[in-house]
Amino acid sequence: MSKFAKRMRKNILSLRISNGTVHDKLKAALQVMELEYQDSKNQIFANAMSKPRSCNAIRRCNSPWCPICANPKSSKAKRKASTTIQSAPWETVKPTTNTKPTEYRVRGGQRMVEAFDELPSIVCHPITINMFLVAVNGCLNQISRKARRRMLRLLKKLTKGAICRGKFDIALMYLDELEFDLPDNEWPTGIDPKSPPHELYAMFHFHGVIFDPYLARRELREIIAHEFSGAKRVCVRRAKGTTVLDDGTMCGGLQGYLEYASMEKREISFGMDSADAVVKLVQIDSTWKRANRNFSFGKSISESGINISRSRIAVLLRQQHLDDVKADNGKSIPAEQFIVQWLTFADEYLECVKRARTNSISMRHVCNFLYALHSNWFGSDIFHQIDFITYFKRKKPELAKLLFERVPNQI
Ligand SMILES: [Zn+2]
Repeated sequence: MSKFAKRMRKNILSLRISNGTVHDKLKAALQVMELEYQDSKNQIFANAMSKPRSCNAIRRCNSPWCPICANPKSSKAKRKASTTIQSAPWETVKPTTNTKPTEYRVRGGQRMVEAFDELPSIVCHPITINMFLVAVNGCLNQISRKARRRMLRLLKKLTKGAICRGKFDIALMYLDELEFDLPDNEWPTGIDPKSPPHELYAMFHFHGVIFDPYLARRELREIIAHEFSGAKRVCVRRAKGTTVLDDGTMCGGLQGYLEYASMEKREISFGMDSADAVVKLVQIDSTWKRANRNFSFGKSISESGINISRSRIAVLLRQQHLDDVKADNGKSIPAEQFIVQWLTFADEYLECVKRARTNSISMRHVCNFLYALHSNWFGSDIFHQIDFITYFKRKKPELAKLLFERVPNQI
C-alpha cells in the first residue's frame, strides 16, 4: 500500500473511531492494528489483535481491544436479581455476586472488594489519583514500579490497619487539554508547563478503594492531596448504594467502582488523530503486563485483627449528615438550620449551661440565648413546633436518630 493510500485508510478509520458505537470503534481500532502490522511487521500489533480474533462465546478473550469483551453494552454478567444492594453509609460492604463470572471486569471487581467485606462504607473511600504523565514511547513496567513506591509512601501515612485495592491504568490525553494540575517538577522533562504542546501523552492513574479505620474522608483527601499535589489531581468519592443496571453493569457501590477500575477501557476518540492514538496506545500498552496493573496494600481486618471503634463510626456518620445538611443549607427550612447549629455547637452550648450552673447571673443570659435559638427553628410556623420530633423522624430519620441519641448522652 502506498503511503498516500495508507494515510487515506487511516483517515477513514479515524472517522469510524471518533463517530462510531463502542463496537464500531473497537472494530476500526483492530483494522488500524492490521494496517500497522502489514506495514511494520511489528509483532506487538499482531499480539494485540490475536486475542480478539480468537474470541468466542465459549471462551471469552477479555482483551481491552475486543469489540465484545471490552464493550459494557454487550455484557452478559449475571448477578443477583436485586437492584439496590447497599443504600446507607452505615451498612456494611458485602460482595454481591454469587456466580462465577467469566468477565475479567466482574471477576477483578469481585476479588478486590472481598478485602472490604463487612466494613462500614463510611470508612471505605473510592479514589482516583492522576499520578504521572508518560511519553508514548515510555515504559509502563518501570513507571508502575515507581507508582507502587509512591502509593506505599502514601499508604504508610494512614492509620494502622488501612487497606487499599485497585488498578493502575493509562489514558491518552493531549498535554494542552489536561483537566488537572501538576506541580512544575512533575511535568515530563523538556515540557514547559506554561505552554504544553498539543501532543498525546499517557496519563498514568490509579483507581481503587482505600479503607482507613479512623480518618474522615476529608482528612484522607488532605493526606493524598499532600502526596499528590495539584488541583483536581486527586478525587476521593463517597461509596454510594450499588445499582445493577439491566445490562448487568454494576455501578455506584464499591464493587461497581472496582469493576469500573478493572474494565481496562480504552479512550481512543481523538478526531482525525484516532488511528494514531490506537497505534500509540498499543505501543505503550505492550510495555507492561496485567500483573503490573494490580495494586494491593494491607490485609482484610479478619486477618489483621484491627478493631473499628463504633463511637468513631458514629462521629463520622454525624459529620457526614452535618455536611449533607450544610450542603443544601440554602434550601433548608429554619428547623433544619437549627439542627445544623445544634450539631455544630452542641458542645459549646452544653458547656455554657454547665458554667451557668455555678454562676446565677449568666444563667439568665444562657436561658435567653437558648430560647432565641430554640424559637428560631420553628420560625413563624407554629405547626413545626408542635410536630418537631415527628417532622424530623419523617423527613430526616437518620439525622433525627443521631440528634435524639446524642442529647441524653451529653446531658
Ligand atoms: Zn473477546
